[in-house]
Amino acid sequence: MPLTWNIENLTIKLKHTFVITTSRQDDTKVTVYTLSDGQHTGIGAGVANNVTLETQESMAVALEQISQAAVEMGSTDPEELLPALAKRFAASPSAMMAFDGAIYDLAGRKAGLSVGDYLSRQFGTSNVRQTIATDHTIGFGTWDFIERSAREYVQRGFRILKLKIGGNFDEDFKTLSRLRQLVGPDIGILADANQGFSVQQALKIADEMHKNNYLFLEQPTPKDDLPAMAEVTRHSPVPIFADEAVRTLELARRICGQKMAHGINIKLAKFGGIRQGIEAVKLAEASDMDVMVGCYTEVSPSLAAGMHFARAFARVRYADIDGNQLMLNEPFAGLDLKQGLLQTEGPGLGIRSVKR
Ligand SMILES: [Mg+2]
Repeated sequence: MPLTWNIENLTIKLKHTFVITTSRQDDTKVTVYTLSDGQHTGIGAGVANNVTLETQESMAVALEQISQAAVEMGSTDPEELLPALAKRFAASPSAMMAFDGAIYDLAGRKAGLSVGDYLSRQFGTSNVRQTIATDHTIGFGTWDFIERSAREYVQRGFRILKLKIGGNFDEDFKTLSRLRQLVGPDIGILADANQGFSVQQALKIADEMHKNNYLFLEQPTPKDDLPAMAEVTRHSPVPIFADEAVRTLELARRICGQKMAHGINIKLAKFGGIRQGIEAVKLAEASDMDVMVGCYTEVSPSLAAGMHFARAFARVRYADIDGNQLMLNEPFAGLDLKQGLLQTEGPGLGIRSVKR
């Protein structure tokens, strides 16, 4: 059977405006990709974003080209296709992620395995986890907003909160201890500055985070200033994670090689999907660095890819896979979130489209 595919652009409204240091968002624009071999259908999705600078239009164009290239290669095997295509379409990582997700979904469905189990088998990783805990992100807002959000998420069972900071140093500094007092000692909290601080500010924030038992600080300083991030990493009492700074495998090689952070945030949309994400995991492993699997404001097919990837590799310590929680609704089902634990059922990614 010849391969057939479908590319669809969706704009999904958010529950409220999501504000961080570098953006304000009322909706999210995704590109959904389905690929069928006549027997099984795989689904994946990419997201327009300001890190890889892809749009729905560019992703749709790239996905058409990637699909044609896959037909010419005459295979649907992830190992035969993905490394070569990721190299060829390195300029379109988020589009590549949509294709990669669909290919792994298809491979899992053919093998009768969840993608997490499929990866675990393929890469010989043991102790694959059945579920993975995700944090819940709190964007910029007044203290009232932060308090209301934190209470709601803790009540819903989340054990880790992620606080967006980096907009206003004095306010951020005060919020750190207030939030710790509010949720008590048993909830993990991390903070993400999205490049908002100088080295000095970052180190003051890191000290305050340490006093209040925070887990780690993400991307404290501007993404292109790697020496600044390395400097914060050398002196910070809490671990520093690179996110915007580690946008490509090349940058991951540099940041991990020189240990410019204690950990990296692997978002599949930055690297081109699961298969390239695995290469980033290997780099972190080689330097004994931590890994968090993160996401943008993404739909379930993307989040499920991140979840299966995260649960298959023991090196992944944290998951920030809550992108669809901000959406009013999305036309997908299958990604189950209970008590902060993510899970799917059945083979492949475990996601299905539902009628809009
Ligand atoms: Mg981040």
